[in-house]
Amino acid sequence: MNEMSHQPKNQTNYPANHDTNHEPERQHLYEIAVIGGGPVGMFAAFYAGLHSADVLLLESLSELGGQTGNLYPAKILYDIGGFTGISGQELVAQLEQQAAHFHPTIKTATNVQTIDPQPDGTFLLGTTNGIFHTKSVIIATGGGAFTPRKLACPYDPALEGTKLFYYVRDLDSFKGLDVAIAGGGDSAIDWALALAPIAKSVHLIHRRDQFRGLESSVDELHHSTVQLHTPFLIQGVTANGPRLDVTLDQVRGDETRTLNVDRLLVNYGFMSENRQLRNWPLTLEHNEIVVTSQMQTSTPGIFAVGDAVTYPGKVKLIASGFGEAPTAVNETLSFLYPERRQALHSTQLYH
Ligand SMILES: Cc1cc2nc3c(=O)[nH]c(=O)nc-3n(C[C@H](O)[C@H](O)[C@H](O)COP(=O)(O)OP(=O)(O)OC[C@H]3O[C@@H](n4cnc5c(N)ncnc54)[C@H](O)[C@@H]3O)c2cc1C
Repeated sequence: MNEMSHQPKNQTNYPANHDTNHEPERQHLYEIAVIGGGPVGMFAAFYAGLHSADVLLLESLSELGGQTGNLYPAKILYDIGGFTGISGQELVAQLEQQAAHFHPTIKTATNVQTIDPQPDGTFLLGTTNGIFHTKSVIIATGGGAFTPRKLACPYDPALEGTKLFYYVRDLDSFKGLDVAIAGGGDSAIDWALALAPIAKSVHLIHRRDQFRGLESSVDELHHSTVQLHTPFLIQGVTANGPRLDVTLDQVRGDETRTLNVDRLLVNYGFMSENRQLRNWPLTLEHNEIVVTSQMQTSTPGIFAVGDAVTYPGKVKLIASGFGEAPTAVNETLSFLYPERRQALHSTQLYH
């Protein structure tokens, strides 16, 4: 599990209520818990840190980035203020760096399942990675919690993250290796084409003869050094010394092949799940969280931003989420500390 946990900085603008990181998580009372590490959640965590809040950021996947990092990392975005064009992956990297500046506590591979309001006005968050205690919540769960579609055949879970990967962040780590890639969509093709010049060999396995990617990418694939295995399905994955044996069965055929490779990358896409919203203390409309113009939900102390919310005129874009985040953070801090005036501009706060 990827986990970054830091001691919060000394508080300047807001009263501190910090326990040490040695205590069980449940006993540490955060000021703001942001649920969801997509672009909007990351920006909200940064903005809350900018205002010296003690922030917890929870993400169900093992990587931050939301839709942008996982669904379209290679796409160039032209509608982010200040950038004439930036790839999804680069935007996520910048947001991570920006969010990390104020040392929030970041827990990845942590799916929030319950939000329980407490009699003292605080909240307990029940997650797949323990219980967390917070004074307020900003929900940034977007289209729902992502999980990768996994291989259908049984395999030793210890292979995951060592020889078998569902995400690729650093293509260079596959330099000089024999790599098998499973999948037939844009991302699998992009990985194969990007690895072809740097890996020792690249095998692409797809259960159909036709690939689902962009025509130009499929064309490039057929003219590349990538070795295609179609229509084949992975039937077994086993460790063979430091390498992997990947056994393939032909679809509607009798041929069986075994690839002996260093790494297997699986890209069968992602599933998103936001059914848990219905169990949280929120008013929903078509499974979206109803918020006021202050980004306030129907429960005091719980705010929401980004693709997860609805209000008249809501546009599901990163830029609108970036606008909603400061509103939610400022309103959260006014809710927690009504007597305090907030500095408005970052120059007064950046350190
Ligand atoms: C193909 C495609 C192209 C797009 N192109 C553009 C574009 O060019 N410009 C643009 O502005 N927008 C674009 N968008 C829309 C943009 O991606 C979204 O508006 C943006 O991602 C919303 O960010 P978010 O942080 O609110 O939600 P998301 O990006 O959906 O992130 C939500 C995060 O919350 C996590 N999460 C959810 N539930 C839980 C839980 N219970 N516990 C813990 N974590 C949880 C999820 O795993 C996810 O990482 C595009 C979208 C798609 C699909």
